[in-house]
Amino acid sequence: MRIVVVGGVAAGMSAASRARRQDPDAEVVVFERGEYVSYGACGLPYVLSGQAGDSTDDFGALVARTPAQMRARGISVRLRHEVLSVDAGAATTLVRDLNSGQTRTEPYDHLLLATGVAPVRPDWENLNAAGVHVLREIPDAQAIGASLGSGAKRAVVIGGGYIGLEMAEALHLRGLKVVLLESAPQVAGRMLDRQYRAEVGAELERGGIEVRAGVNVEGLHARAGRVTGVQTDAGTVRADLVIVAVGVRPRVELAQSAGVRLGRTGAIATDARMQTSVPGIWAAGDNAESLNRVSRRKVHLPLGLGANRMGRVAGVNMAGGEAKFPGVVGSAVFRVLNLSVARTGLTHEEALALGLDAVSADVRSTDHAGYFHDARPLQVRLTAERGTGRLLGAQFLGHGDAVKRVDVVAALLHGRGKVQALAEMDLAYAPPFSSVWDVLLVVAGKLR
Ligand code: FAD
Repeated sequence: MRIVVVGGVAAGMSAASRARRQDPDAEVVVFERGEYVSYGACGLPYVLSGQAGDSTDDFGALVARTPAQMRARGISVRLRHEVLSVDAGAATTLVRDLNSGQTRTEPYDHLLLATGVAPVRPDWENLNAAGVHVLREIPDAQAIGASLGSGAKRAVVIGGGYIGLEMAEALHLRGLKVVLLESAPQVAGRMLDRQYRAEVGAELERGGIEVRAGVNVEGLHARAGRVTGVQTDAGTVRADLVIVAVGVRPRVELAQSAGVRLGRTGAIATDARMQTSVPGIWAAGDNAESLNRVSRRKVHLPLGLGANRMGRVAGVNMAGGEAKFPGVVGSAVFRVLNLSVARTGLTHEEALALGLDAVSADVRSTDHAGYFHDARPLQVRLTAERGTGRLLGAQFLGHGDAVKRVDVVAALLHGRGKVQALAEMDLAYAPPFSSVWDVLLVVAGKLR
């Protein structure tokens, strides 16, 4: 049995490890076109800012397992090998060795597409100028590090999604003057309701990061091949470093070359076992759709835990076992300066857009007993379905690890829990950790 995996990061490596464990006799081959496998891309902004690793170029700190460690587990890892196309009829892939330039045909019994997403690169003038970067993989972060090392002082981050926000923070912490440009009226647009988005923008401004929202980028300016500014419909912003973080698209070219069906979201459609529409071809990770258990719709949610879990499921199934991906509830968390932001399930706005009769309650309180010295503000919105009381989602803004309460709601969402169940929960209490009536119990009581 020969299992071929394309892509060697979260989904691909999880799948390869699980497949070998499931069937120790299976031959497992991973083709990765880059030079790194099995690393946490989520940590890239934090290495750059000096909050992770031993130095601001210690990207090795993010590597969970080296190719040598994977080989010791019996997995054949081929770095700098790009899979160019798939012939599903012949059950072969065409692979190019990027070192030698040679191509060869590689057969498979099972093929996993774990190719992730690619950053969107708008059709802007001077997008390829020196000092203009996207952030997806370790070499992108190394290139940003090189721009910082060559003395960049003014940065423009284009896009106020979580990667743009994390990079705005990282560059600010490195001492640059940072301007964040966002075409929507507010940052964090796809993650939170309007009132909560406003708090994220306010935190950036408080910390000294300038936010210009409702501004459209028209192109970039460069001199002698190096970026000098960003042209918007509201004027020019000077910059010697630009981060383009305007979204991602699933890498589906190989899937299409094999005749694999894509879903409504544009990502690869699979069943719960991660099997695609073509027998013998599987997909997992950021390039695949998943089921949102709250909305019962297929969604494209390119996040780390889902990618790892989908990879495990695909690995077990390819090697003859039986596993199912349970879907997601839409949990996400990120931090911007001193503000932690978390959500799970649906926002109020998302629920209404899906035609649900949503009702929400908000509570502003503190994360510990109010008398405790480091009690800090915490704000929560809980959303439920009117009439049935079914929980639909929650949003949190707070400090420290206060937003970890999001996991309580996520757990309830997995079981289609109700507001009443949350209001009745026995949550742990002591003054250093919470209030006797935790903010979650208060907001659930309000909504009940
Ligand atoms: P990827 O990590 O994209 O890996 C795909 C691999 O496939 C790549 O290495 C690519 O080179 C390879 N490949 C593609 N095509 C081919 C081909 N034809 N031949 C050979 N190889 C190929 N998620 C969270 O949940 N929380 C976070 O806080 C968070 N922060 C993030 C911060 C940043 C800056 C980034 C970039 C991502 C973050 N994520 C976060 C997302 C998380 O990193 C991804 O969900 C996860 O990496 C997806 O894993 P994957 O294996 O599906 O795809």
